[in-house]
Amino acid sequence: KQQTTDVVIIGAGAAGLMCAIAAAEEGKQVHLLDHANKAGKKILISGGGRCNFTNMYTEPSNYLGHNPHFCKSALNRYTPWDFIAQVDKAGLPWHEKKLGQLFSDNKSQAILTMLLERCDQLGVTIVLDFSISSVTKTGETFSISNANAVYQSPSLVIATGAMSFPTMGATDFGHRLAKQFGLAVTPTYPGLVPFTFDAKEKAQFDGLSGTSVDVLIEVNNTSFRENILFTHKGLSGPAVLQISSYWTPGDTVTVRCLPDTDIAAELKDKQQSQPKKHLHKLLQSYLPLSVIQCFCEGIDLQKPLHNYKHTELQAIADLIQHWQFIPSGTEGYKKAEVTCGGVNTDEISSKTFEAKKVKGLYFIGEVLDVTGQLGGFNFQWAWASGFCCGKAL
Ligand code: FAD
Repeated sequence: KQQTTDVVIIGAGAAGLMCAIAAAEEGKQVHLLDHANKAGKKILISGGGRCNFTNMYTEPSNYLGHNPHFCKSALNRYTPWDFIAQVDKAGLPWHEKKLGQLFSDNKSQAILTMLLERCDQLGVTIVLDFSISSVTKTGETFSISNANAVYQSPSLVIATGAMSFPTMGATDFGHRLAKQFGLAVTPTYPGLVPFTFDAKEKAQFDGLSGTSVDVLIEVNNTSFRENILFTHKGLSGPAVLQISSYWTPGDTVTVRCLPDTDIAAELKDKQQSQPKKHLHKLLQSYLPLSVIQCFCEGIDLQKPLHNYKHTELQAIADLIQHWQFIPSGTEGYKKAEVTCGGVNTDEISSKTFEAKKVKGLYFIGEVLDVTGQLGGFNFQWAWASGFCCGKAL
């Protein structure tokens, strides 16, 4: 079977669906191909099942990538409010959870259904279970083939995302295709991913599994104020996921508990006002005892305050407010919410998303070297890049 069309988009995820809608609104005939048996699988599992579909405070500084300016144009032209308008028009209720993170009140399926219904209204053809065997370009025409069919078009959009969460159909297809057409790909690594530890280090916080603490976490001059979560495998929680995107193996991570409190000063004050109070009792008013014991392993915390020297109180405060560690690694692409790195944005127009060297070939969404922080920024990038590309086609 051979089919000619205006636009072929590979990848029916967030970016591909948005691009299909934007192009079809301009009257293009669009074929959206995906190897999965369902469109938008990551939308369905996102945000704990309630899709954190955007962030009200989206700024270019919420994105990583070797060219921090690349994302600016699209983020300006398609803002969170543009997506919110779509959600409102579809009558879907939403709420802000925290820090500008907008979630669907209903299940994520509602957001996916909204996009699929719009595709349907506009006559977008979605072809699922389509495992691509080859992509070639002859003259001005791309041919995208599987065992039974060939789609031909002058415009080919790659919206295949990247390697994170392979169980949801993620692959490195987009990066391989970029290389096939002579485009550079910046090194990739898992982002928004839990840290792991070697057995000895892990034993230190074995009893803490399930405990969550509000901290300031820092690596390489980047910091986040969020919760860390001790797990049976290592460390997770929003603070860890955020910082993991800025971490390279071997880097030291610093965690400061009670970042708004000068613990050393408070312990010394209390030593004056309540000298008979036992130190562990006092510390428990700040943090769970299990956490304190983990940080202050081997130190006797059972004595009354007057039994401690100032230098000892200072040392205890430092242990609580200046925990440093080097993770042995991360849980990898299997558990990463995103892939950092990707198709080098120097190769791509930030206005149209067309490859500068290959006429008619476009890259959008996570496949590019643009990675959002946690909190709805990744979908906002998928919507914005998909929309701007779709309008430019
Ligand atoms: P994807 O959505 O990954 O879509 C790519 C599509 O391409 C898929 O349908 C895939 O099947 C298809 N494909 C891949 N390879 C091939 C191939 N070889 N042939 C044909 N088709 C192919 N971001 C947020 O902003 N908010 C959240 O709440 C959020 N939660 C997340 C939760 C989890 C567990 C995960 C893993 C990610 C989450 N993200 C979230 C990140 C977000 O899902 C991605 O950044 C976003 O989906 C990227 O959109 P995309 O369209 O570029 O890629």
